[in-house]
Amino acid sequence: MPISQRFLGVCNGCKALCCTLLSPPITEKEKHDILKAGFEDHFTKIIDGVYAIKSRDNGNCPYLKEDYSCEIHRVKPTLCKVWPVIPRYQNNKRGIIVIKCPLFPLISKKEFQQTKKEAEKIPLPIVQHLWNISPVMKQKYKRFEYEKF
Ligand code: SF4
Ligand code: SF4
Repeated sequence: MPISQRFLGVCNGCKALCCTLLSPPITEKEKHDILKAGFEDHFTKIIDGVYAIKSRDNGNCPYLKEDYSCEIHRVKPTLCKVWPVIPRYQNNKRGIIVIKCPLFPLISKKEFQQTKKEAEKIPLPIVQHLWNISPVMKQKYKRFEYEKF
């Protein structure tokens, strides 16, 4: 079970901070799956195969509900499923970081390894967009302490 699902209550208790900081870039298939499941189209194309979810005016992800749960939980993008394990792209190299949030101490080594594998499978253009193109990611996550792997 993905971390984000097992610890849903923790993210809700933290008022889903991540979902108020940025909306994740997603693949074409993820966009297709969200639309096929009947949810609203909040997408904008970045490059072929990579889409952004347009944030609301207040910066929140449009799928974040008032009770801090995710409207598209069952079809949420992989980036959201693996959070707070985050694929990193820096100096032309892929890596992994974990943000030290309320979830951090709850993740077992086994769970981390499984989630890391999932995060490493996220297509490179998505990861590049997250780190290289989106200044939001760099700026807004400065306040977290990172663990690098
Ligand atoms: S991953 Fe961590 S920082 Fe993000 S919403 Fe969940 S508990 Fe909060
Ligand atoms: S899709 Fe769901 S989990 Fe992902 S940022 Fe939006 S509200 Fe949060």
